[in-house]
Amino acid sequence: MSPSLDLQKDKTIMGHDLPTPEPESPNRPRKPYRFSTLCATVENPAQKDQFGSSSVPIYQSSTFKGVGGEYDYSRSGNPTRSHLEHHIAKISSAAYAFAVSSGMAALDVVLRLLKPGDEVIAGDDLYGGTNRLLTYIKTHGGVVVHHVDTTNPESLLPFIKDGKTAMVLLESPTNPLLKIADLAKIAADVKERAPNAIVVVDNTMMSPYLQRPLEHGADIVYDSATKYLSGHHDLMAGIITCNSDDLAKQMGFVINSIGNALTPFDCFLLLRGVKTLAIRMDRQQTTAMAVAEMLHRLGFKVHYPGLADHPGREVHERIADGYGAVLSFTTGDKALSERIVGATRLWGISVSFGCVNSLISMPCVMSHASIDPATRAARGLPEDLIRLCVGIEDPADLLDDLERALLEAGAITVSAGADEHAYVRATIQRQGAAISRAVEKLAFNENAARPLENREWFVSAPGKVILFGEHAVVHGVTAVAASVDLRCYGLTSPRHDGKVGLNFADVGNFYHEWVLDDLPWDSVTSVDLGNEHPEQLDQRLVDAITKRALPESIEANPMAKGASIAFLYLYMTMAHGGERPSFNFSVRSTLPVGAGLGSSASFSVCVATALLLLHQRIDLPGLPPPTREPHNDDPGHIHVSHRGRRAIPHTIAEEANRWAFVAEKVLHGNPSGVDNSVAVFGGALAYTRPGFARKGGMEAISGFKSLRFLLTDSRVPRDTKRLVAGVSAKKLEEPEIVGRILEAIQSITDEARRALSDPELSREALLSALSALIDENHAHLVSLGVSHPVLEDIRTKTIEHPYRLSTKLTGAGGGGCAVTLVPDDLSDSILDSLLQSLSKKNFVPYLTSVGGSGLGVLSPHDPANYGDGPGSEPLRAAFEEKTTAELADWAAKRGRWMYV
Ligand code: PLP
Repeated sequence: MSPSLDLQKDKTIMGHDLPTPEPESPNRPRKPYRFSTLCATVENPAQKDQFGSSSVPIYQSSTFKGVGGEYDYSRSGNPTRSHLEHHIAKISSAAYAFAVSSGMAALDVVLRLLKPGDEVIAGDDLYGGTNRLLTYIKTHGGVVVHHVDTTNPESLLPFIKDGKTAMVLLESPTNPLLKIADLAKIAADVKERAPNAIVVVDNTMMSPYLQRPLEHGADIVYDSATKYLSGHHDLMAGIITCNSDDLAKQMGFVINSIGNALTPFDCFLLLRGVKTLAIRMDRQQTTAMAVAEMLHRLGFKVHYPGLADHPGREVHERIADGYGAVLSFTTGDKALSERIVGATRLWGISVSFGCVNSLISMPCVMSHASIDPATRAARGLPEDLIRLCVGIEDPADLLDDLERALLEAGAITVSAGADEHAYVRATIQRQGAAISRAVEKLAFNENAARPLENREWFVSAPGKVILFGEHAVVHGVTAVAASVDLRCYGLTSPRHDGKVGLNFADVGNFYHEWVLDDLPWDSVTSVDLGNEHPEQLDQRLVDAITKRALPESIEANPMAKGASIAFLYLYMTMAHGGERPSFNFSVRSTLPVGAGLGSSASFSVCVATALLLLHQRIDLPGLPPPTREPHNDDPGHIHVSHRGRRAIPHTIAEEANRWAFVAEKVLHGNPSGVDNSVAVFGGALAYTRPGFARKGGMEAISGFKSLRFLLTDSRVPRDTKRLVAGVSAKKLEEPEIVGRILEAIQSITDEARRALSDPELSREALLSALSALIDENHAHLVSLGVSHPVLEDIRTKTIEHPYRLSTKLTGAGGGGCAVTLVPDDLSDSILDSLLQSLSKKNFVPYLTSVGGSGLGVLSPHDPANYGDGPGSEPLRAAFEEKTTAELADWAAKRGRWMYV
């Protein structure tokens, strides 16, 4: 046991019992010291300095002479560290404190209390490094981790299991959205239902000054002392506190064993930082409140627990003594946020927080950039979010600098008729869109062969494949879906005859054109600019289109019928301001249509995006603005450059996804939203149906590495509804057997998610894990009765020597497609022979990769695109004539594509 532990075990020296100066007055007993006094008073009666030094000396010594002394080796104990740990315990209402080399080192020590098979319940909005370490112990330590929404204590209840739950890991408020968890309620629930589980709180955002979770039932609290405790961005450190002798003994053992205790010099620096914790925090949070109020007043959406409408504010006020000094806000536009960040001078652009200097950052571009956009979206992390970490500078200077940056960036404007200091939020979206449209019009009219109204728009979106969890998903099990690089393409070409034409070359070569004025406009309720389509479809419009707008001949082509209704529904509801653009829309697909690979969703995404562009409801990023060069004397400034490759902004992708979902509703009635989300955002996601024990919703699988798959279309049509109903009937007949199968499939999807997002797992290990999971999942689908002899035939072929590959059915089964994982090292000749033998049996194999890009638009800013280059032709004729095999390559060569 470390000497510091021995010292701290004597609870009479705990913080609030710190002896008060003598003599005690008989008339007026002394009160315990308050927090800031405790902070500033570094005194340890059991460790008096021999010379009475008023600052704790640095014992820069690895070893100590003598036998049986208090210290022998600094890994086990060091006098400077003992002073620091005593001080931290004192200000944290704790019996024990440990100082280690970083916040993550602190978590590492805590997680070493777990053993294989233990279950951990953790928040779903944790610090990224915490997630990474949890993933590591999941895959390497055999620990099961459940991520839940801790803002709702109820959501933890189904996961708290006596004898299984070993740890509950919480953060409140979270960073950067300041979400609040009721630490006291959750700790009480855990103690009641699983008394042996340990409640752990990461208290970094608050520090012991503002929140002491041990007082609310937590067993262990840790902080990244790199932040507020140090306060000066000059060291990395972590601290851990607890009251239990047993936990302290175990953690002391770990620290001594692995040697991650804080060095003497850093202990000294941290001790110095802690002395001013209270005074820094007071100043920082007072200014943070003023900043939050200013932004709120200006009309921005601000996340700060000090604001009256912040969700969970009362909970926070019950468990904490202040609101902290981190806040965040959104502007409605990512580029605008970038301009604001770039325009501040006093606010330094940096990750981390807790320093005396104020910092500004855009989490999606900086601290959270490693998380892919779809995951960020799934976590509700807006792309335009700006985080502010307030320091101790003069509040007037900070407010002034921020206000000036907002003005310079065009986020606020002087309010009409007011004095020069009254600002209001600029109606940026609308105004910005109008300006950029005007600029674009000018640029295209002046510089291009084809003006704006004559432009073609070329869009594309991927299909999807369900890798794991089909059918089971209907019963609340998580499914894993990923994009496939077979795509649907849509091209709009202008016409000037008051008509709109639709051409589906791959769906029975369908073509029809409508006179725009003859469409059933009397039945449409258009959705105003800036508004979203209501949740319910407008059935009156669907009926009017079906009855009054479709040609009789379409009855022979049900797919074209559905697609035409969806297209006209979107065209008519999006129309605004009396404008009815006249154009032709041609659709092609390298995806097999109706084979369960999400062709309808990728079609819906193409239709939605093309129509949003044509109706000028969205603008792609404008032409590159002039680059602002950095000043040498201004190193804190980012260099806002727009010359690089442009991506489709997230706000636009979300809008396209919302409208694509409307089209999916027209096509399918009650879609899950998974297919269109994959078609917009690409990559892979896990989906759990809402309304079951598990938390429902979609979550992107970050770090998904692109994988090669063979998709084999059996060409046997399937009846999804019948197959789904068959499984439900089986569940009613044999609830126990089907229940066990569903549980097994849930473990498969959990395992697949873990493996797919584990950065540490080697490629080889990943592929072999996935192979095993594919075989297992298929066996369960067979037991559910949804396979088909042709699918088994395909599977048997791929298992044979020399292929030895893993195959499963995908989607509803009963026909449709099978997916086969193709290892990286499979030789071309073996692969060719497999493709040939599948083709020989009349199947259609597609070699494709899974997990690639989402929605794409051919960039309008490249003069060579869209046939605007000198002597070039419009795209339509070639687009409609290309064979399916030529299509992808031809499209890629049309110019630079922008992707989500
Ligand atoms: N916990 C939270 C909430 C954090 O913000 C951080 C760092 O940003 C950590 C833990 C990790 O701390 P460190 O960087 O000191 O290892």
